[in-house]
Amino acid sequence: MDIQRRVLDQISKKEVVELLRELVQTPSVNPPGEEEEISLLVAGKLEAMGIEVRSVAVESNRPNIIGRLRGLDQGTSLILNTHMDTVPPGDRKDWSFDPFSAKIKNNKVYGRGACDNKGSLTAMIMAASAIQKADVELKGDLLLTAVVDEETGGEKGTKYLVDKGLIKGDMGIACGVSNLDKIYTASRGGVRLEITTKGKLAHAAMPHLGVNAVEKMAKVILAVKELKLNHRPHRLLGGPTIAPGTLIEGGVKINVIPNTCKSSFDIRTVPGQSFDRVLDEFKECLHNLKQIDSEIKADVRVLRLTNPAEISEKERIVQVARDATTYVTGKKPKIAGIPGATDARFLINQAGIPTIVDFGPGKLDQCHVANEHIEIDQVVDAAKIYALIVLKACGYQ
Ligand SMILES: [Zn+2]
Repeated sequence: MDIQRRVLDQISKKEVVELLRELVQTPSVNPPGEEEEISLLVAGKLEAMGIEVRSVAVESNRPNIIGRLRGLDQGTSLILNTHMDTVPPGDRKDWSFDPFSAKIKNNKVYGRGACDNKGSLTAMIMAASAIQKADVELKGDLLLTAVVDEETGGEKGTKYLVDKGLIKGDMGIACGVSNLDKIYTASRGGVRLEITTKGKLAHAAMPHLGVNAVEKMAKVILAVKELKLNHRPHRLLGGPTIAPGTLIEGGVKINVIPNTCKSSFDIRTVPGQSFDRVLDEFKECLHNLKQIDSEIKADVRVLRLTNPAEISEKERIVQVARDATTYVTGKKPKIAGIPGATDARFLINQAGIPTIVDFGPGKLDQCHVANEHIEIDQVVDAAKIYALIVLKACGYQ
């Protein structure tokens, strides 16, 4: 029997379902960063397969897990990166089942994290297990990184491992959610800004004696809404976007004219668009507003910058993933861009490793919602696809 078949035969639906349910039944909610239990579970699974495991943490109760399947040092190495944390389940009333019961219905597993990202975590572990069980000797190393903190920015997860030089390889995949019919090769970046308007306190019965910072903020929000960031649309991602007014707070009391007001703005950028240019365009917008209303005083503060990321679709890892997917599902996945950010940006921009921005089982519209679920058959397919990618990328004897 050829090696590919031998490896694929090791992947059983029953084991995939058991592992996925066990992972969903182990809450790893972040914030507040409760990943310890799932980290220990994942480390234990990999160790039991005979995979070399290392645990690396910024905060001792939030360990990142690095598994390494050593190759013969004769081939290229591959990184499969995925995250173990999930967003909180939200209001229990919005769920039809307990979000941590991993209920099965209509061949789907329900629960917080079932889709984002425990489906691909399951597939990644099952793929490594199949390689081990089939007794394949890889030529290059396979590195498995199961990280914390992805849902809150990745600083203590993938970014930390990259900063410490613990993720090295020739190519990678951020194993996430792409319905297996897309291979995301580009992601948008982001700028989070906070604007504070300043006014002057006065008695609300005599508003003309003050300057109302909330009213000034209303003008700022409307001006920002009209702001067209000057950047040509990206082939896969479209143009940049701005969502103003995600938070507005100001004033001390209903009968006092407010002297300060804050609001935050979420801007999504595309590859090639510089942060400085975005900030300049924002400041110019406020400057123009002051020409119309000289009482407007506004400060801009940057809360967070996230780099966009992009790799060429000609990269070998993209070709390998496309071929493996077509082999398993019979359909050729599309090359696409993803609107949000993924941890791949650290591997691409900082470590210089060509990494698929996002690829795995599950649908994007199932992420972060109530009654989150994933199709079991897709997780099984993803395990097979990841296993074939490992064989092809790392080579085997
Ligand atoms: Zn998420």
